[in-house]
Amino acid sequence: MNADVTAHPHPKNDAFLAACEAVVGATNLITGDDMARYLTDWRGRFTGHARAVVRPADTAQVAAIVRHCHERRVPVVPQGGNTGLVLGSVPDASGAAIVLSLARLNRIREVDPVNDTLTAEAGCLLQQVQDAAAAAGRLFPLSLASEGSCTLGGNLSTNAGGTAVLRYGNARELALGLEVVTADGRIWNGLRGLRKDNTGYDLRNLFIGAEGTLGIITAAVVKLFAQPAARVTALFALDAPPQALSLLALARQRCDATLTGFELMSDICLQLVEKHFPQLRTPFNARHPQYVLLELSDAESDAHAASLLEAVASSAMAQGLVRDAVVASSLPQSASIWALREHISMAQAVEGKNIKHDIAVPISRIADFIAETDALLQQAFPGCRMVSFGHLGDGNLHYNVSAPLGQDDQVFLQQQAAVNLIVHDQVHKFGGSISAEHGLGALKREEIRRYKSGTEMDMMMAIKRALDPLNLMNPGKVL
Ligand SMILES: Cc1cc2nc3c(=O)[nH]c(=O)nc-3n(C[C@H](O)[C@H](O)[C@H](O)COP(=O)(O)OP(=O)(O)OC[C@H]3O[C@@H](n4cnc5c(N)ncnc54)[C@H](O)[C@@H]3O)c2cc1C
Repeated sequence: MNADVTAHPHPKNDAFLAACEAVVGATNLITGDDMARYLTDWRGRFTGHARAVVRPADTAQVAAIVRHCHERRVPVVPQGGNTGLVLGSVPDASGAAIVLSLARLNRIREVDPVNDTLTAEAGCLLQQVQDAAAAAGRLFPLSLASEGSCTLGGNLSTNAGGTAVLRYGNARELALGLEVVTADGRIWNGLRGLRKDNTGYDLRNLFIGAEGTLGIITAAVVKLFAQPAARVTALFALDAPPQALSLLALARQRCDATLTGFELMSDICLQLVEKHFPQLRTPFNARHPQYVLLELSDAESDAHAASLLEAVASSAMAQGLVRDAVVASSLPQSASIWALREHISMAQAVEGKNIKHDIAVPISRIADFIAETDALLQQAFPGCRMVSFGHLGDGNLHYNVSAPLGQDDQVFLQQQAAVNLIVHDQVHKFGGSISAEHGLGALKREEIRRYKSGTEMDMMMAIKRALDPLNLMNPGKVL
C-alpha cells in the first residue's frame, strides 16, 4: 500500500508516472490537487486518493498504461462520467491506484444502418451515441437522467437500465460486441456486430456489468432501432399497486411492443414534487394514492398511439382498475407528465436525506412485496414515510424510506443498517435483487454476501481470479 497520500508524487521522481506520461503526454497525466473532481463520487459521499489520473486517447494507449500498471502492480480504477451511485468509479483511501479516465476515447467509429448497429468508443457520452444514431435516422434507446454526463463504457460496465427497458432491454441486451483491454494489457477485439454467434463462452457478457473489475471496455457495437413515429404518454390515478399490475397486464395485451414505459409513483412522491417545484402540478382535481405513467412508442402515428391509449384508458375505467386518466394530447403535455416523474429524486433531495434502495422483484410479486415491507417498516419505525417509485414494468423500484415528519434526518439515518436489513431480507424472500440498476461498487459489496449462495460467490471469485489474477482491476469493488 502506498500510505503517503499527501506527498503527491511527480513524474520527475516517479518512474511509473514517467512511463505513463510517456504514453499520454504531460497534459493528460494529472496529479496533486487537480485530481479532485475524479476522486469524489457523484453524491459527494466519499473522496478517495489516487497516485494519478491518467487520460489515454485511444485503445493502444489504454493497453500501454494497463501494461505499466500490471508490471508494477498498480491498481486501476476505470472511470467514465463518474455518475455511478455505488462508489464504483472512485478510488479507495489508500492512494495506491490510478484513475484511468476513458473520457478521451470519444469517437463514433461507425454507423451501419443496414446492420442496424453503431460502433462507439467507451468514453462517448450516452447523449452523443443517441445523437449519432438519430443523425442516421435510427434510435439508440438507452435513456437515463444522467445521459448528458454518463458514458457508453460506464453504461455497459454497470449494465444500466433507465426508462425504456420494458421495450428495448437494458444495456446488456443492447450490446452486440466489445473491445476490451485485459488486466495484463492485451487488446481483445470482440467488436462483432452479430445477432448470432455460438462459438463458445460469451466473453462479452462477462465484461458487461463487471463494474471494471475484469478489464477495461474501450469500444462497443450496439444495436439500433427504428425511430418511433410517435410517443404518447398517459397518467393514470389508481388505488394501489395491485391495480397497477392489472393495468400493466391490460396495456401489454392491448399495446404489445408499443408499450415503452410503465412507471409507478406514490402520492407522497408527487406531493414532494409539487411542494419543491410548484410550477409542476398533477393534472387531476383530486389526490389519489398511486399514479402510473404509461408511454407508448408507435411506428405509425400520433393518432394511432392516442387511440390505443384511449382504448386502454376506457377498458381500465370500465374494469374499475383506475380512478381517473389523462392522455397527453401534445408533446408539451407529455413532457409535463414526464417532468413529474423526473423531478421525484430532486424533490426528495431538497426535502432531506433518506434511505435509498434500488431493488427488483418479479413483477408478479411486487404488490405483495410493497404491502408486506411497508407494514414491517411501519412496525419498526412508526411514521416513517415511504417515498417509493420506479420502473414497475421492469419489476424495479426505488424503494426509499424517509424520516417521520418532524424527526431530524440525521437521527433517522442512524437507523440505516436496520432499515436496509428489513428491506433487503424482504427482497431476498420475494426472490429479488438488492441492486437492480446501479451495481454493487464498494457500497453493497459486503451486503451481497448475505444473499448470494456460496456456490454463486465461488463462481464469481473463480472468474475474477482467472481474468485478473493480480487483483488490479478496480479492487475492492463488487467482490
Ligand atoms: C441523475 C442520475 C440518474 C441516473 N439514472 C439511472 C438510471 O435510470 N438507470 C441506471 O441504470 N443508472 C442510472 N444512474 C447511474 C449512472 O448514471 C449509471 O450507472 C451509468 O451507467 C454510469 O456511467 P458512467 O460513465 O458515469 O460510469 P462511472 O460512474 O464512471 O463508472 C461506473 C462503474 O463502471 C466502471 N467503468 C466505467 N467505465 C468503464 C469502462 N470503460 N470499462 C470498464 N469499467 C468502467 C467504473 O469503474 C465503475 O465501477 C443515474 C445517475 C444519476 C446521477
